[in-house]
Amino acid sequence: MTPENARLARLRGGLAAVEVGARGLEGVARNTACTRLRAIIIAGLTPSEVIEKVFNETGDAMSPFAMTLSQAFERRMLGNGGSSLLTAYREKSLLSQIEVKIASVEDMAPGDSPVARARRVTETQRLLDLKLAGDPRAPNLILSPRMPLEIVGVSHPVELAYLIASDAEPAYRVGVIKSFADRGGKTDRADIRAACREAAVGTMALRQHIAGRGRAPEMAVDKVDLVLRAPGSFNPRLFAQMRAESELASLGRALATAPADLDEVERLLPAGGTLADPTMIERLPNNYRSACKEHCALWERCRTHALAAGQPIVLGDLAAEQLAAAGSITRALDLWNGRGRPPENEAEATLMMALREAGHVLDRIANG
Ligand code: SF4
Repeated sequence: MTPENARLARLRGGLAAVEVGARGLEGVARNTACTRLRAIIIAGLTPSEVIEKVFNETGDAMSPFAMTLSQAFERRMLGNGGSSLLTAYREKSLLSQIEVKIASVEDMAPGDSPVARARRVTETQRLLDLKLAGDPRAPNLILSPRMPLEIVGVSHPVELAYLIASDAEPAYRVGVIKSFADRGGKTDRADIRAACREAAVGTMALRQHIAGRGRAPEMAVDKVDLVLRAPGSFNPRLFAQMRAESELASLGRALATAPADLDEVERLLPAGGTLADPTMIERLPNNYRSACKEHCALWERCRTHALAAGQPIVLGDLAAEQLAAAGSITRALDLWNGRGRPPENEAEATLMMALREAGHVLDRIANG
């Protein structure tokens, strides 16, 4: 066990480490100011695991319908030797009629045993090395690859949907498959950005592998591929080579602070305190945002605390921004009603005027 692994095992306090995966790591970049989430992920846990094992509550699981849809769509894309995926690339002329080499890492080492998982890593690395060596046998599509991503000296395995490269390209790009429907301009941009960030986790792992072989990590380009579902069907809509510089940068920033985060978490907890203790989890500073519900199973607990503390964020992002000068809903109400302390600075005075003006407008609308 490396010293870092030992530190993290101590922090988990007897809880078994789980595979955080690309989705878990991507979640850190969604709320970089949340020490609680970063601590949980760095320690090798997930918010769902903490809810179940530490708070003994039921996790915020994906709805069975969404889960079935997601699994069925992914199976459709990756099943049959990846033929649907290959067709999608051919239709866009991103792979030619002779670029048909497909390798399924899952088929090489199926199952969930530690041996099968380790074999999937070595098989993926072998295929990546073929590409790096310019070997013409290197596959054009690698399905279900598994790669290690090292953070704070600890290896986190990341399983991805697929990797893609034409024969002429020197390295692979990461592809993600999402079952939400492509609705053109109406597709939620936040969902697309999250999917790209998830793929970018894979790009980071690819870059680490390439760097480990003494080559330039940037050979793995900062572009990712996204497969969505056509509305009302299981037909794929391929969005190839989507720019992911900002997703890579935000992930890089979020994960680069991990060693300092580990030191900070150890400092924040009292001697002997671990993440297996619910009071210790709640001791870690959080940063509740409206979007927490979309990616973190702890959102209800964090929202309850935000509500108890009168944090404006419980009224939404806009209210949080506008009431920032007051710091709490109670203080904002005091400024509005003229109760409590007078404004303590210019920002509070401006807010007081704005709240009173809004109050007058509301009064005129309500009473004519
Ligand atoms: S729900 Fe809580 S722990 Fe999760 S990201 Fe939001 S503030 Fe952090």
